[in-house]
Amino acid sequence: MSARETASGLRAVARCDDLGVAPYSDADDHLFRPYLGAGHAATLDRIAAWMTEAGMTARVDAAGNIVGRYEGRHSDAPVLLIGSHVDSVRDGGRYDGMLGVMLGIETVAWFAERGHRFPFAIEVIGFGDEEGSRFPVSMLTSRAVAGVLGDQDLALADAAGVGLAEALDGFGLELARFAGAARHREDVLAYVEAHIEQGPVLEAEGHALGVVSAIAAQYRFRAVVTGVAGHAGTMAMRLRRDALAAAAEMVLAVERIGGAGPEDLVATVGRMEVGPGVPNVVPGAVTFSIDVRAGVGAVRDRAADEIRVALADIAARRTVGLDLTLQQDLPATPCDSGLSRLMAEAVRDVTGAEPRVLVSGAGHDAMVMARLAPVAMLFLRCRGGVSHHPAEAVEVDDAQTALEAMTAFVTRFEHTWSDAGPALTEEER
Ligand SMILES: [Zn+2]
Repeated sequence: MSARETASGLRAVARCDDLGVAPYSDADDHLFRPYLGAGHAATLDRIAAWMTEAGMTARVDAAGNIVGRYEGRHSDAPVLLIGSHVDSVRDGGRYDGMLGVMLGIETVAWFAERGHRFPFAIEVIGFGDEEGSRFPVSMLTSRAVAGVLGDQDLALADAAGVGLAEALDGFGLELARFAGAARHREDVLAYVEAHIEQGPVLEAEGHALGVVSAIAAQYRFRAVVTGVAGHAGTMAMRLRRDALAAAAEMVLAVERIGGAGPEDLVATVGRMEVGPGVPNVVPGAVTFSIDVRAGVGAVRDRAADEIRVALADIAARRTVGLDLTLQQDLPATPCDSGLSRLMAEAVRDVTGAEPRVLVSGAGHDAMVMARLAPVAMLFLRCRGGVSHHPAEAVEVDDAQTALEAMTAFVTRFEHTWSDAGPALTEEER
């Protein structure tokens, strides 16, 4: 595909496609771009060149994020950050994360082509790790930028035993400086992220774009059901305490409760281990996961309470043991209401339609960046809602509409900020 030489959604999509293969992938036959790998390095070189072409100065920060800066009218102006992530899961799609970075570059290019400078700088940031693509944590690099790293984060090692320090060293970066990627709160006006929806709602309802109201609160539990193992041929049915049959009923209860709430409430059993797991033994123990999410913490909490009660009832009736352990508790991240309103107006500007507002069930860098600055998110429809898969696809027209919405957003942001921001001369406005 030949990219146009001016800012366009087509160019953003074409560049994602370019970056979908070796040497931008660490695998020859599929896309896998883990943090601080060879594909990541090659990708940053390419992105830096595109940023420069678009009128930005490009640098790699202390955490391995690529950052392009489009200066404002003053060199020390605060920053509007536009970004997403450049890493991918193994055998991932080309647009997850990367399209948001490419649309950020196109947004800047669009204004640069018109010679427009803002009373703030715009920086486009491509986060190195969102997916947990290399180390066993996710959003490592946005957490560095937001200044919210945990104590254990710097002691990580990948599956091959390579530590973060060594991986950074291969990238010309130092562990001791990693946390120095943190930005100052007073320098960052806002963080805006465009991302494919990774779900089917926009496509099903015929919307190219959506505005994210919040990133869902999430609970993850481990459930252990303990019954009594026995010979599958000799143990009478009425005497059984079958852990798997009980777990099966529990899975259906989780599904029923998840389906009984608002549309953004979801509940999933995605993993199950059966012990002893042989055909001729009645299962004695089953361990399974429960993932519960909703845009509002209270909705998630209520569903989790219902699940606890329902599972305890099933366990009591079937006389099996049940142990539920909370393993992860992520609070909901509401997007900033003022910025989201600007984004909704921007979407209305370009589509003429009332924007679809939806909750993101998936986590994004924006949930981390919300701890540093107000955030807004724009979702793009993707085909079939498919993501984290090579079949991931977006329409060029949708990417173009998204670019127009992003430029409309930045224009509206400029007007709002200039009205509310520090006193500027009439000429500067
Ligand atoms: Zn993503």
